[in-house]
Amino acid sequence: MSDDRETPTTHAFKAEVAAVLRLVTNSLYTNRDIFLRELVSNASDALDKARFAALVEPELEGKDLAPKILVQIDVAAGVVVVEDNGIGMSAAEAERNLGTIAHSGTLEFLQQAAKNREGKPDLDLIGQFGVGFYSGFMVADRIVVETRSARPGQAPVRWTSAGDGSFEMSAGSRSERGTRIALHLRDDAKEYLDRWRLQQIIKRYSDYVLHPIELTQRDEGGELQGAGEQVNAAKAFWTRSAKELTDADYQEFYTHVMGGFVLPGDKPLARLHVGMDAPIQFKSVLFVPGHRPMDLFGEDSKHLRLYARRVLVMESCDKLLPSYLRFFRGVVDSEDLPLNVSRETLQEHHSLAAIRRQLTRKALALLADTAKDDPEGYAKLWHEFGVFLKEG
Ligand code: ADP
Repeated sequence: MSDDRETPTTHAFKAEVAAVLRLVTNSLYTNRDIFLRELVSNASDALDKARFAALVEPELEGKDLAPKILVQIDVAAGVVVVEDNGIGMSAAEAERNLGTIAHSGTLEFLQQAAKNREGKPDLDLIGQFGVGFYSGFMVADRIVVETRSARPGQAPVRWTSAGDGSFEMSAGSRSERGTRIALHLRDDAKEYLDRWRLQQIIKRYSDYVLHPIELTQRDEGGELQGAGEQVNAAKAFWTRSAKELTDADYQEFYTHVMGGFVLPGDKPLARLHVGMDAPIQFKSVLFVPGHRPMDLFGEDSKHLRLYARRVLVMESCDKLLPSYLRFFRGVVDSEDLPLNVSRETLQEHHSLAAIRRQLTRKALALLADTAKDDPEGYAKLWHEFGVFLKEG
């Protein structure tokens, strides 16, 4: 790839991306609302990555910026923008990340999900899955990404695509680190120019995103509405009392924990919501997934997400449960963990071992309770995860 971005360059999507895009853009009658959840979730990840990077890269740009996610509606232009001041992307990263599918198996998963019993694609289902960035093409016929890496010496880039098989890259103009994604809405998606509609979607799907989300609208007359107002509660799900949470709330959080990859009817086989104060303080929400996560045997198998005082410190921590319980998914948050250390140091922190002892005890008790109280559920659980339990 050339560094000279004076002249725009056109790139073909990899075959898998093209196939996913076809599935995404042709599924007209799906739950398209989730595009916003996906883009907000990417923005939130980018802010977390910038925070991690700042710990070990002293030269990182924009370290003093307050993390923020902006959702902006421009009614006259017919555009919805999702912007963050997170890690951003270099030209090489944009080309790689937005030109390929991050998770292996996504296409097969979608194709499988898209088939109903007669073996025909059931287009109504597709939109319910996390297809990440590409879900933007459910509502947009053109996406323009302006991004600038937080790493010094990286020029800003512009990435554009109509979602039809190729994307174009050229020199960008963004001055601050982070990413701005402009969705030029399709004619049949103008409903998303409504501020209350977007507010409702953010509340529904992204309320527990821990970074503030601000929603503004420039109305037809150019008047700016909603500036400075945060629309999400930004309250960690696990800090809420189990008593005030409904099954639907847990289902929503389960979907979030599973990265959006949840088949219709896929419910956790068991769940645990614990808060401990002694001998170590932590809170945790754990799920036994309704089916074997597709990454379980792969290299990129996910473990529990680890937070220190509501701040994500590790996306996937394998030190929180023994290996034979690696099918559990969920989060752990502790007051007793340091915020400002690298992942390597954190992995060895003595508090992790203490949390692991308590959590393992709780997880095993949960399995025992399920066996006792819900034999049918336990049979399913054994069918899906018995191979791992036998290891233990
Ligand atoms: P996923 O988020 O599941 O990895 P996506 O298709 O949503 O898959 O995004 C692909 C990749 O593009 C991400 O893994 C990330 O590296 C990059 N990316 C997407 N959005 C952003 C963003 N707002 N800031 C920085 N990087 C991003």
